[in-house]
Order: sequence, then C-alpha cells, then structure tokens
Amino acid sequence: MTAAAAALKEKGIDVIALSQGEPDFDTPEPVQNAGIAAIREGKTRYTPVAGVKPLREAIRQKLIRDNSLDYDIDQITVGCGAKQVVFNALFASLDPGDEVIVPTPCWVSYPDMVRLAGGEPVLVECHEHFGFKLKPADLEAAITSRTKWLMLNSPNNPTGAVYSKAELAALAAVLRRHDRVHVLADDIYEKLVYGVRFATMVEAAPDLIDRTLTINGVSKSSAMTGWRLGYGAGPIELIKAMNTIQGQTSSHTSSISQYAAIEAIGGNQNYIGDFVADFEKRRDLVVEKINEAQGLRCRTPDGAFYVFVNCAGVIGKVTPQGKVIETDVDFAMFLLEQFGVAVVPGSGFMASPYVRISYAATIEELQRACGRILAACEAVCESEKTYEQSKATA
Ligand code: PLP
Repeated sequence: MTAAAAALKEKGIDVIALSQGEPDFDTPEPVQNAGIAAIREGKTRYTPVAGVKPLREAIRQKLIRDNSLDYDIDQITVGCGAKQVVFNALFASLDPGDEVIVPTPCWVSYPDMVRLAGGEPVLVECHEHFGFKLKPADLEAAITSRTKWLMLNSPNNPTGAVYSKAELAALAAVLRRHDRVHVLADDIYEKLVYGVRFATMVEAAPDLIDRTLTINGVSKSSAMTGWRLGYGAGPIELIKAMNTIQGQTSSHTSSISQYAAIEAIGGNQNYIGDFVADFEKRRDLVVEKINEAQGLRCRTPDGAFYVFVNCAGVIGKVTPQGKVIETDVDFAMFLLEQFGVAVVPGSGFMASPYVRISYAATIEELQRACGRILAACEAVCESEKTYEQSKATA
C-alpha cells in the first residue's frame, strides 16, 4: 500500500498516507545531539556484538525502573531494531517443525520470520469482541508437544490492544502447565498507552523469567525508527545463541545509534508525555469519525498508534465504478485509488475484513482523510442502492 500510495503521489495525486508504522515526530533533540557527539568523538568503530556496555547498562536500569525486571548485563542484547532481535531469537531457537503460537491479528512479520527460521506459525484468532486478546482457553488448545514459543505483543500492532497484568497472569497460568513453551514479549509500543497501565509478562509472572524474552526498543517510544535499535533481555543461553547469530550477520547495530540510544533510554524522557497526549487526541478523532461512517466500526484502542477498523459492512457492496468490494484489500484499494487515502488491509495482519489506520499523522491530515473515508463509504452504500434498483428493474 505504501508503494502504491507513493506511485500515485509521484503522479501528482493528493494521497494521504495512513499506512505508516512509525511516529511522525522527529527524534528528540537531546538524542540527536548524542548521535552527533558520538560521530564527533570518533565512536564510529565496531562495537561488541551485544552492544556497548554503557548502553546495556542503561537498558538494565530501564528494565529495573520501568518494569521491575532485574537482568544481568550479559542477559541483554542489542540489535538492528526490535525486528532483528525477534528474528535472532527465532533463528537461534527453532528446529524444523517447531511451532510458534502467533495470536492474530498480528504484526505482519511474525509468521514469515517463523517460517524463515524453519518453524511453523500456529495462528490463533483473537476475536474483536474479546478486545482482540488471546483467551487462556485458546492458548491451552493451541499448545502441542512441538510448541516452542508464544509471541505476545502488547500494546498490539495492528489492534492497539493492551493486556492488563491480570490478563497476562491468566495466560501465565496456562504456560506453567507447559514448561517447554517460551514467551516472546514484544513490548515495542510500551510507552504509547492511553489511560491504562502497561505490564510485561515477567512482571505479571516473575517465575517465567527463565523462559521469557522481553523485547523492546527506541523506534516507537523515541521516534527513532531509522536509527535501527532494539534490544532483548532473557535467559543467558538464549542471549548467547542470539549473539552468535548476530555476530555472523550484522555484527551489531550502528555505534552512533547505540550512543544516541543511551540518551533515549537513560536520559530525560519528558517528550514521551507530549507524544502520548498528541496521539490520544488523534486516536479519539479517528475513532469518532470512523464510527460515523456507514459500514465501518472500530473499538477505542488503548495503545500504539493504530485503529483497527471492521469493514464487514462494506463487503459485498458495489463501488460507483461498478466493482464489487469482495475483500478488505478491495476496500483499501478503493480508498486509495478513488479517494486518495492509504490504509493497510487486515489480511496482512492475518485478520479480515479489517483495515488498519495509522494515526501517526497530523490532526489536519486525519480530518481530511476521515472526511474522505466517510465519503467513500457513503458512495459505496449509495451506489449499491442504485445497483439493487437496476437489478430489480431488470
Ligand atoms: N514489533 C512490532 C509489533 C512492530 O510493529 C514493529 C514495527 O512496526 C517492530 C517490532 C519493529 O520495530 P523496530 O523498528 O525496532 O525493528
């Protein structure tokens, strides 16, 4: 969708992109300055594979401060974004045929990463009416003798769902009955929560520390997607194996990013409050407008910067161009081509019929985009009436 939107933009068509998975804020100035200082001070050489010590120490302190998790510095590894850390973990641990439970809707990369590492993703549907969250009974039913990991992502991409500590504890109760199953807690959106408290799995179930990998990073919380820095904390043997893999692939992430991340993680983070306040206003605007659109509905998400919109009400309807909208991909293409709004079809997140709207855009852009979405829904509903009438006459 991003490529299709860019192609239309190149032709001079006014496209509002709500497909992006990154904050639209600039990296905060103190963090930029830390990166610049690193360059000037010659911190531009190879670093240890797991990351420079002051950074891992900053991460260690962060995990104590924010999550009450006390890891040894050698239990922490830094990679090129949370993405590489997830990949390293799967690559280091999966044998052919091992299963990984992926609650859906899920981040697009999980199933493919599992396959690339030789495993099999086991998709477990989390229903909208349960807030898109995994139910303990569904987790229990999905576990087999081949299950190696449960991937948990809270706040969630694409639904914005945030698991409470009690909900995590209920999942942990199931996991205690299956000691072969590890947990990959992808906390990358931790800081972006609205009126709810974030909790991570080990905080909810400290006894699972030896089989949980806690993953986080600076991409979303400090608007640093391009700096490529994420980290994982977990059992020492797993971390060592992940470092071995990274040592033979990327070696480490940029030294400059590492020094900037020391500031992002250990320095003053007051800017996060501003990010959150802005995002919350944008979320409320999008949720209100979307729920006014004919054929669409959405929940108010508690975290991240996405609204996951149920578009079942427009499926089967006819566009003014005479095309039946059969899937969420059709609907997303219709929005893009006829109304100049780029959103991501739910099928990419293993959930249909939905579209994901990213509200990492200005209020003005969101207002204009929502106006267009409302008009698009009205157009399909109106044209369907005409279509039905012409069918009846025929
Ligand atoms: N995990 C989830 C759920 C994400 O949505 C993303 C990015 O969109 C990532 C991980 C990757 O983050 P990073 O930029 O740190 O690689």
